[in-house]
Amino acid sequence: MNFFNNNKNEGIYLDYAATTPVSERARKAMEAYFSNNFANPSSLHIPGQKAEASLDELREEAANILGASWKEIIFVPSATYSINLAIRGAVKAKKKILKEAPHIVTTNIEHSAVLNTCRDLEKEGVDVTYVPVSKEGFVSVLDIQNAMKKNTVLVSVMYVNNEIGTVQPIKEIAEVLKDFPAYLHVDAVQAANYLGINATDLGVDMMTLSSHKIYGPKGAALLYKKENVEISPIVTGGDQERKLSSGTENMPCIAGFVEALKEIEELKPREPEQILALRKIFIDRVLNNGKNIGLNGSNEQRVPNNINIYFKNISSEALIPLFDAEKVYVSGGSACTSRTPEPSHVIKAIGREEYAKNSIRVSLGRETSKEDIERAADVFIKISKEHN
Ligand code: PLP
Repeated sequence: MNFFNNNKNEGIYLDYAATTPVSERARKAMEAYFSNNFANPSSLHIPGQKAEASLDELREEAANILGASWKEIIFVPSATYSINLAIRGAVKAKKKILKEAPHIVTTNIEHSAVLNTCRDLEKEGVDVTYVPVSKEGFVSVLDIQNAMKKNTVLVSVMYVNNEIGTVQPIKEIAEVLKDFPAYLHVDAVQAANYLGINATDLGVDMMTLSSHKIYGPKGAALLYKKENVEISPIVTGGDQERKLSSGTENMPCIAGFVEALKEIEELKPREPEQILALRKIFIDRVLNNGKNIGLNGSNEQRVPNNINIYFKNISSEALIPLFDAEKVYVSGGSACTSRTPEPSHVIKAIGREEYAKNSIRVSLGRETSKEDIERAADVFIKISKEHN
């Protein structure tokens, strides 16, 4: 299956980190919930009970994959909502018992869902430490430990960076935080396709996953929250999802999401390897033949599907139409900010200020073929020679 209905003339999609197509399995799993098992799972009647039983089953399946209990899975509409719930919810709950302003520790390469939530909380007097990363894009466990204060209520660190694909040492951070009362929330949105997402193995208190990055539909995400972790709701309403995410559950999308989760777990033994082999072909070809271009971030220590290339003399804003003209669809930053020609905070954070406006993310996925990657690499080479 190809997202352009197998019509390669439509172009080459290399923006899987922004969003993925919905897999056949996920799409099929959704069907039952549109006009058949469509009742509101909170309704008391028999069709409502049937929908509730299906929701319980889906929750149990998601929990099994995460090494969690069904009580620890909160279905929400998006990863952004989940992140807000984890961060704002923890601050709100702890504010009730703390005498001083709560403190949050995070990194300076987080997604805007985390950074803008923290910035917003700062306006309310919350104290936030943004721990810097190394030139390769990694946060140090010691730096996190050193940032801890007695009023730290939450540490939020992304598992995988969405722009440069670097993998953060989550297990080690969780180990160190055992000595502190603060909760650890992990944004695992970009990690789920390639890395272990067993929350118990990772040792995290909360973890965010998103459906539309793993070949599920848009409109569903989940917050894993360990049973003893206390957070307050951030939206008021019908008290669904154990009072933590009011609003009728989006059953078709949750069903598609859970099916996609099962599918990525089944594919993990082989898909990451295949994608990694394609990435190697692309990087070697582009770095050996391109002009005035280079790789941002580590060559090895990143998720298999991520490549981030800087062009010395041309902005990503100018580059995107050039790639569009070649029908090669890449990203000029993270999806949420790529229409704003702001320099990338991630490229800046790794000390490459001069390329913060000149970098292109290429993200591979399930349908990417060797042929696609070779053609895309040749387009990179051509553009680098013609416009530098
Ligand atoms: N976190 C990371 C690392 C992401 O890459 C994204 C989306 O790009 C999000 C959070 C937010 O996801 P959504 O826009 O689906 O809410």
